[in-house]
Amino acid sequence: MFRSLKYTWRPDRQDLETFRLVKFFTLTGFIVIALFTAFLTLFVADRLQEMALKKSEDYASLLAANLNHQVFQQFVLPAAIRFQGRIQISEPTQYELLDTVVRNTIHGFHVQQVNIYDQRGDLAYSTDPIELGRNYLSVPEVKMSLENGERNVRLVVPKYMLLNLFFQFHKEKFLKTFNPLRLESLEIRLTPELGPVIGVFEITQDISHDMIEIGKFQLMLIATLVALMGLLFMVLRQIVKKAESILERRQEEQKELQAQLELAERLAALGEMVAGVAHEIRNPLGIISSTAELLRKRLEHSEGDSRLAQIIEEEVNRLNQTVTEFLDFARPREPNLQTCDVEGVLERSLEFLRPEIDRHNIFLNRQYNRNGHPLLVDPDLLYRAFLNILINAIQAMPQGGQLTVTTDPGPQGKGARIVIQDTGEGITSENAKKIFNPFFTTKDQGSGLGLSIVKGIIESHQGQITIESNFGKGAKVSIVLPEMEA
Ligand code: ADP
Repeated sequence: MFRSLKYTWRPDRQDLETFRLVKFFTLTGFIVIALFTAFLTLFVADRLQEMALKKSEDYASLLAANLNHQVFQQFVLPAAIRFQGRIQISEPTQYELLDTVVRNTIHGFHVQQVNIYDQRGDLAYSTDPIELGRNYLSVPEVKMSLENGERNVRLVVPKYMLLNLFFQFHKEKFLKTFNPLRLESLEIRLTPELGPVIGVFEITQDISHDMIEIGKFQLMLIATLVALMGLLFMVLRQIVKKAESILERRQEEQKELQAQLELAERLAALGEMVAGVAHEIRNPLGIISSTAELLRKRLEHSEGDSRLAQIIEEEVNRLNQTVTEFLDFARPREPNLQTCDVEGVLERSLEFLRPEIDRHNIFLNRQYNRNGHPLLVDPDLLYRAFLNILINAIQAMPQGGQLTVTTDPGPQGKGARIVIQDTGEGITSENAKKIFNPFFTTKDQGSGLGLSIVKGIIESHQGQITIESNFGKGAKVSIVLPEMEA
């Protein structure tokens, strides 16, 4: 049984290291993806904001061109005629005219405020005329628009635009565009930007609403990203956990296997020793047995003495049985395969045990369903295996019970399936794990080798043996024997 055992277990350190490496790369990959996606999201959000601002700037630019045209057409020209070329915005009549023109032009546009600065940078007109006359040349955009006639833009928001968008929804945000106010002449009317700069328009747009919308969108984008990354992380964590548990289980299994193999090796060594000793014991035992038998026959006339000789004989036989079991266990022999019918072998075992079965008031129930189909087995070994199983069943029912022996064709109709079931004490789930271990016994006089020997015999026939039990209700031993080639 142990001859084929080899020490094959190796700790799977390489597997573990590979797994650790994979885990590391997976998590690093996850972090890189998360960071990349975060940057991408911020970039997209920023671009979106830029586009919205550009849209507002274009809007303001269009309005500025329109204002320039309207102011020139409806204020500068008429005022020049009406006031003999003396344009003085601070004069109430002129101011009123300009105010009407500006208000009519910006009517319907989303404009918060319009300021007009004169060539010196003084605030000449405002839709919110609180600080009229004040000089604004110190404002760089006013100065630059006056000097180089270009459009300048200023964004009026609290510091750190992105963060503000997230956390300061309530604060107002403005876009101020500074556009040069140019003179138009009839020839260059179609391209008014070519005329000389005579002032600056400051158009203030309230972009809070747009910015809030963008902020919301940014928040939504980031929330989606966080949720997605969270989900991805959870999935990854689950996968890693599962892989870890599989690896741990495999390690446990390997450890268990190693323990079993070590035990088996120790037992094999022990078995060799026991076999040697048992062999030496068997010869003198035979002599003691035959001498005791002779003695008993000679002392037949003296009842007391012959009883003593009989006891020696019985005990020697029992000892011989134990020694034989040790030998069977330690030196299992190769099966000597012959074609025979399994039911015949079963019958022989049952016949041998018939007195015991009757003595224990056990009801025997046989169901042979294989039609005596012959099978290639070692009848002697099988006989011994059946005997051991049947003895266990009988011993499990000291107060009587039912012993059922069934045979059926094996899986796919080939080989044989033998089931021996009793209604005895059964096996606890704790003991069920150990019953095939050599020397495991719950009996006072048991050797604990019976089932080990049975297992060895069945496996030498390439078969399988399983035992199911309901503690307190009995046990069921199932054997499957395949159809073997001669
Ligand atoms: P032994 O019979 O010498 O104890 P075995 O290897 O044949 O050795 O059996 C090991 C143990 O398995 C028994 O001690 C017993 O506890 C349990 N066992 C085996 N067969 C049965 C059965 N049919 N019913 C209850 N217990 C059983």
